[in-house]
Amino acid sequence: MTTIGFIGLGIMGAPMAKHLVDAGHQVHGFDLSADATAALAAGGGKAAGSIAEAVNGADLVITMLPADPHVETAVLGEDGVLAHAKTGSLLIDMSTVSPQTSQAVAEAGKARGVRVLDAPVSGGQAGAVEGVLSIMVGGDESDFRAAAPVFDAFGKTVVHVGPHGAGQVVKAANQLLVGGIIALNAEALVLMEASGVDPRLGLEVLNGGLAGSTVLTRKMDNFVNRSYDPGFRIDLHHKDMGIAQNAARGAEVALPLTAAVAQLVAAARAQGLGDRDHSALLAVIEGFNNR
Ligand code: NAD
Repeated sequence: MTTIGFIGLGIMGAPMAKHLVDAGHQVHGFDLSADATAALAAGGGKAAGSIAEAVNGADLVITMLPADPHVETAVLGEDGVLAHAKTGSLLIDMSTVSPQTSQAVAEAGKARGVRVLDAPVSGGQAGAVEGVLSIMVGGDESDFRAAAPVFDAFGKTVVHVGPHGAGQVVKAANQLLVGGIIALNAEALVLMEASGVDPRLGLEVLNGGLAGSTVLTRKMDNFVNRSYDPGFRIDLHHKDMGIAQNAARGAEVALPLTAAVAQLVAAARAQGLGDRDHSALLAVIEGFNNR
């Protein structure tokens, strides 16, 4: 049993923390939402009243926060994780942030004697609930090995992909792929429907062939029913397309389709769909076609 501090009990963090509780770990959770913290306690975890309380005495701390500014405040801030973490403990930031932020967290951790991994995830809310996330991990190999039992609680495909920040680069690649696949499925649906083909039947047969995908399996109902409850919010995908485009600039590569997908996500946001699931890219494609 490990004592784990868990910061950020949202759509992803809540089911991940619950898996850790169910695996027999003592989980001290904190979220700015008192309801989220209370839900963890109701499920067998311990409610902490602050980051300091969640982190105090923990061997391992997990953060699952929305974006870079939240990690900067909750981890690097005056009263953040690193200000209270035990020397020799391990911090795993599982939020999707820029590789630069992950590297800054690792540097700050090193200065305080705290080991750090960046470990963003893919698989969505369903993957978190089912405990089958893909986890892409950046940092030292020995820390990756030490974290394995924790990753096992909610991960299925867990890979150490390189040094600090490498997990975030792979996650950026994941996000440009997912955005592109959603956009093309939306275009396929619009074509089929405009041509008088039942879109569910069309998508079902497509999903059995080479065009099939996890995205289509997971988002089929969202597409067909136009049900855009998150899920994964357009606002978060917009943040991730920015990370992908900045990473491309840093690596001096041109990613033209990524730029197009980023514009579709930006359009969804401009149309007031920021808090809707990213399957709402369909609404943008439908809007282009006056449908
Ligand atoms: P979310 O907004 O549902 O949850 C984030 C939680 O962090 C919220 O409950 C919020 O109250 C809390 N929070 C923010 N600042 C805090 C602070 N200072 N202290 C304590 N709690 C704080 O977001 P989510 O969908 O769970 O996503 C979390 C991360 O995982 C994001 O980086 C996202 O890009 C990534 N991600 C999400 C999905 C998905 O399908 N939702 C999939 C893969 C990765």
